[in-house]
Amino acid sequence: MIVPANPKAQYESHRTEIDRAIRAVLKSGRYILGEEVRRLEESFAAYVGGRAGWHGIGVGNGTEALHLALAACGVGAGDEVITPSFTSVATAAAIGMAGARPVWADIEPESFTIDPGSVERAITPRTRAVVPVHLYGQPADMTPILKIAKRRRLRVIEDCAQAHGARYKGRSAGSFGDAAAFSFYPTKNLGALGDGGMVVTRHPEVARRVRRLREYGWDADRISRCKGGNSRLDEIQAAVLRVKLRHLDRDNARRAARAADYARLLKCPGLVLPVERRGCKHVYHLYVIRVPVEGRRDELREYLRDRGIETLVHYPVPVHHQPAYRGRPAAGLKCLPAAESAAREVLSIPMYPELAERGVRTVARAINAFFKTKGDR
Ligand SMILES: *Cc1c(COP(=O)(O)O)cnc(C)c1O
Repeated sequence: MIVPANPKAQYESHRTEIDRAIRAVLKSGRYILGEEVRRLEESFAAYVGGRAGWHGIGVGNGTEALHLALAACGVGAGDEVITPSFTSVATAAAIGMAGARPVWADIEPESFTIDPGSVERAITPRTRAVVPVHLYGQPADMTPILKIAKRRRLRVIEDCAQAHGARYKGRSAGSFGDAAAFSFYPTKNLGALGDGGMVVTRHPEVARRVRRLREYGWDADRISRCKGGNSRLDEIQAAVLRVKLRHLDRDNARRAARAADYARLLKCPGLVLPVERRGCKHVYHLYVIRVPVEGRRDELREYLRDRGIETLVHYPVPVHHQPAYRGRPAAGLKCLPAAESAAREVLSIPMYPELAERGVRTVARAINAFFKTKGDR
């Protein structure tokens, strides 16, 4: 069977180092917010910012990272936050946890990332921030987004949960906005062996607020100067992540190589393959193809499943159609056509660094065969 993502293969490939790192934590006697977390914060912030002096704050998961980043940037009750409807529900959940209301923008059909024109149309006097999502590992088009944000005085908080190591015009995803939120969920490009997340920011004041919010509102003297909660990162996850961070660029290069294999091997007219934005580095958290014929995506999924190839759909229902988040798109937008059609057409086929070229061949051959049978009819 070929699986869509494979965190176990990832563990196996770095097993000796990971086991050693975990044993060291077990022996240390310090299990939450210790030296491992501090070092991970320092090295991951420098990885994203490109130099020392950036701030990383380890938190419980990616949703919390986004929630606390929003709160630390001053987003709260009564505020509107513009975000794409075509994203993980986690993005919307985090905006809600900050007390704000998500306002849906559409995506660009080719990159699946937020459409800057649609952001512009969604702005109201209550708009406080924009949350672009670097979906599937492809950076959103940050230049126009930053320009709009500057002109309209909006905060920008990047959802980098799928984009560790992705680059836009030579800079890392997560280095453009007021703050960035990363998830270390096991299947992400940088994944722990449990939950984890991090806020990265260049602003010391934002960093200080996130640090307070993640633990009871405490300052270093353990006095609560604001009302915080509990969203801490543990030492075992941080130790595992420090090992994997050393391999991140190589693992991302492996994903890119498998993406190039797919692009070479998939020969189906009518099938749309991912496009890397010019001047960007896509890190292929997911390899998402598009089947632009009504119902055919689900037929292909079934066909592959019968041949031992598991796939996923990210995402079958745009967030603005989910019962908990149902709402009208922004006033300036009648509907979100690009999000709607993406939800009907996308399919995530197997993609992870340890996937062998042979596996890619098997998947590509099956997809080509499926479209051949369709063409014969
Ligand atoms: C995974 C993910 C999140 C949330 O991360 P968790 O660690 O699962 O809370 C947020 N946004 C996007 C786009 C994601 O893919």
